[in-house]
Amino acid sequence: MTAAVAALVRERGGSVALTDVALRSPDPRELVVKVMASGVCPTDLFGIDGGAGDRFPAVFGHEGAGIVEAVGAEVTRVRPGDRVVLGFGSCGACGPCRDGHPAYCDRFAELNYAPRSDAATAGGEHVTTGWMAQSSWATRIVVHESSAVPIGDDVPWAVAATLGCGILTGAGTVLNVLRPAPGDALLVLGAGTTGLAAVMAAAHRGVARIVVSDPVEARRTLALEVGATEVIAPDDLAALRPAPSFSHVLDTAGTQPSIDAALAAVAPRGIAATVALKPGANPVAVSQSRLLWGRTLTGVIEGDADIARDVPLLAALWRAGRLPVERLVGTYAFADAQAAIADARAGRLVKPVLEMETVTVTDAAAAASVRSLVDRLREGVSDDDLAALWRSLPAVGTAQLRGLWQGWAVTRDHHAGRLLERSRWYGKLFRSDDDVAPIVCETDDGALLADTDLARGGATLRTIVHDGVATASMVYDGQPIIDHFVRLGADTVLGVMTGRDTDDRGRAFYFVLEHVEDRPVAARDTTPTTAHRS
Ligand SMILES: [Zn+2]
Ligand SMILES: [Zn+2]
Repeated sequence: MTAAVAALVRERGGSVALTDVALRSPDPRELVVKVMASGVCPTDLFGIDGGAGDRFPAVFGHEGAGIVEAVGAEVTRVRPGDRVVLGFGSCGACGPCRDGHPAYCDRFAELNYAPRSDAATAGGEHVTTGWMAQSSWATRIVVHESSAVPIGDDVPWAVAATLGCGILTGAGTVLNVLRPAPGDALLVLGAGTTGLAAVMAAAHRGVARIVVSDPVEARRTLALEVGATEVIAPDDLAALRPAPSFSHVLDTAGTQPSIDAALAAVAPRGIAATVALKPGANPVAVSQSRLLWGRTLTGVIEGDADIARDVPLLAALWRAGRLPVERLVGTYAFADAQAAIADARAGRLVKPVLEMETVTVTDAAAAASVRSLVDRLREGVSDDDLAALWRSLPAVGTAQLRGLWQGWAVTRDHHAGRLLERSRWYGKLFRSDDDVAPIVCETDDGALLADTDLARGGATLRTIVHDGVATASMVYDGQPIIDHFVRLGADTVLGVMTGRDTDDRGRAFYFVLEHVEDRPVAARDTTPTTAHRS
């Protein structure tokens, strides 16, 4: 099990709230990715609004980029430590996948829209994940290796995150489907991420005439800056007589007016592509008479891209200055995810990107739920409930335990609890993974002392599996005892003591540690704290 913080949507149309979640372990062909950045795409808003079903609470986000932390036994594409861009899922085995068109994979819907309710829990409650094979609005996610593409160290996270969907869709539709030549004319309807990425890709191909239609003046200006040769407001485009004639048209809206505009503008023998994902069947009417003149109207998913082939290509274009996606991006701290979503809905910027680094849960609801859980533990919980609670909580990393922690016994009528109480146990001090004072006691004058006599030396911190959870565990140097910790909250962990003779009439000893401000902790003069360390 892996601990993460995810932007959880509790109900259809709801806001996101950063919430602690526990992720299941990766399958043999899956990886754990530490997400560094994730874009906000219109498809996410579609999902939040229930467009893919009423399956809440859920985590969205599908433009993730991050670092591979762990891999399943059969993973061959990436290794721990690799920087990766995450994209849509595909099976790799069906006809379209074998033909190099994984966006039309026979299992696309199943692999990208089918909810998984068995992959993550928040406070013991199941959470729907697997959105577009990702659910990347989280600090860590479990993904299939087919969704991960290694990327160079030089691509900033906020740029890398955009390459997995929006930019891929726009640039891919131009490079893989429309393929305009230098003498051609391209009309792009809508200057969002896909439209502007299409402009960049067309400019890269040397297309002579690139016209962008968008109602917002700032977007039209941006289109000119990234390669459009002309811009026009939609109303002005519709009023042009004679109607203009384009060999290639890209519709990014998928609405009746937009499809009408695309078919009105495409030349005989020309091609118009539509890319937006809309709810349901989205019926639109088309003029069969116009199509008769050799005009093609086609739909495109994810730019008909193969992410393993096309994401490195997009990165190379970015490196060459041909894909200036940073012009579209605005970054937000993960804690401001709701503001990023609101700005995306309002169209205040083209591509909001969440940056996951330095996240702590500040969410008041999460803090309140930790407090109520701790209150319940203080009141007393049955042994069975304690074991179940311990199993349901997220793992902690050893680095998260640095510093001084004050402890109290949950199982008070246990011999370990009575011994610690008699010794005026205060808590534990984790200076580093290899420098731990396992038992810190309070002296008569209120000072703190690392009681290395009682602890029989020091201890080390390691990640060890207990009861199915790989989590930070404290190994005593001088006695066969290991304490395993899981996360109750940002500054609170639940510990359980294991090892020879640690049970009292079959009962394990549980305790809570709460992170407190650093204070001096003296070493016992008679026993050097390093005496038992190897
Ligand atoms: Zn397939
Ligand atoms: Zn998308």
